[in-house]
Amino acid sequence: GYKHIRYPSDGEKITVKDGQLKVPDNPILGYVEGDGIGPDITKACLRIWDAAVEIAYNGRRKVHWAELFLGEKAAGLYDGDYFPAETLEAVKDLIVAIKGPLTTPVGGGFRSLNVALRQELDLYACVRPVRHYAGVPSPLKKPEKVDVVIFRENTEDVYSGIEFQSGSDDQKKLETFLRDEMGATFFDESGLGVKPISPFATKRLVRKAIQYAIDNGRESVTLVHKGNIMKFTEGAFRNWGYEVAREEFGELTITEDELYSEYNGRAPEGKVVIKDRIADIIFQLMLLRPDEFDVLATMNLNGDYLSDACAAEVGGVGIAPGANMADHVAVFEATHGTAPKYANQNKVNPGSLLFSGVMMLEYIGWQEAADLITLSYPEVIRDKIVTYDFARQIDGATEVGTSQFADALIEQM
Ligand code: NAD
Repeated sequence: GYKHIRYPSDGEKITVKDGQLKVPDNPILGYVEGDGIGPDITKACLRIWDAAVEIAYNGRRKVHWAELFLGEKAAGLYDGDYFPAETLEAVKDLIVAIKGPLTTPVGGGFRSLNVALRQELDLYACVRPVRHYAGVPSPLKKPEKVDVVIFRENTEDVYSGIEFQSGSDDQKKLETFLRDEMGATFFDESGLGVKPISPFATKRLVRKAIQYAIDNGRESVTLVHKGNIMKFTEGAFRNWGYEVAREEFGELTITEDELYSEYNGRAPEGKVVIKDRIADIIFQLMLLRPDEFDVLATMNLNGDYLSDACAAEVGGVGIAPGANMADHVAVFEATHGTAPKYANQNKVNPGSLLFSGVMMLEYIGWQEAADLITLSYPEVIRDKIVTYDFARQIDGATEVGTSQFADALIEQM
């Protein structure tokens, strides 16, 4: 039994059978309200998601929400514990959950609650779809050409925390080892970091990206790397990526070389093209020729930069959705922070959490409900009914609060 978590009695749990999610018509999904602006956007989004499901399925389907606790709300309930073990247990048990942003407690022994959640649940893929909705302010001339899904590796790379401070005993030990035994040359007293890139982590990430491309009829998967400079880490990522495609999806994929040498540049029906691009170039291409890209598979650091840069092309963090996923367990989340200065003012844009919920509806196979939101959203934006952040950028906009935006969207469905 849980201490504070209550599962709704008329809902059923999602299960996994033969590697597939089995979703009942009355699934229990977990949600974490989050801190700061979290409660405002969560309340608004729960209403929108529920309305979309109700309208799409005429009441035949319904989400049964179980509130789970992390962050400040958890600390209040669980005696100062920001990260209760039962929340972790419930996320594993329910398989699918969505969360608002969380404050990183200062001096709470955590690097961040989000990092802890990713590590504890081994959520190895950070998935960020980036597409444009008509009417959303964008710095591009043709933002409608941007439609990519970024799969960022979440567990290794320079974020592994294997770092040695300049002047420390450990740093000296490693410096001596690298120079004397490995023949490395670098300046004295360099801070040193290690960048592990493994075949295991690379392959499970690329496998997920390719599977997504296949399942969703996407044309290509691009492996993003700087293998020209870092051959045994970034270059290895590229090589292992191609290896997964060849060995595990041989019938369903072709390489870009084969596309031209064997198929005259036109991919045959049902084949996903696997290609690679150097990381710096991809930033240019995503601005200049974004329509050439579909699914992008990246290492941790490159993906961190690239997802925010791409998000900025189509409206920024207020609207960019995301999810952190393991093989089946998936935690969908707003990608922005808690914006404390706007907490409880019914002011901010619910878009990021809203579209994370759309990803969640797609993930459980409720495409009709997801589509209802993605199709109604641009209508509301076209009427220029927007929250303050967009109102600043749209002439003649009607600025509304978070919950009034939700009302307008529900009205439109
Ligand atoms: P932030 O994203 O909270 O806010 C930065 C600015 O972005 C805000 O002041 C606001 O102007 C704008 N903004 C953010 N969300 C918006 C929305 N939905 N609509 C409109 N405008 C929005 O970033 P920060 O100020 O660097 O971080 C605040 C706190 O959030 C910190 O405690 C940080 O650790 C935490 N954080 C959490 C997450 C997460 O839970 N995933 C992510 C980033 C930061």
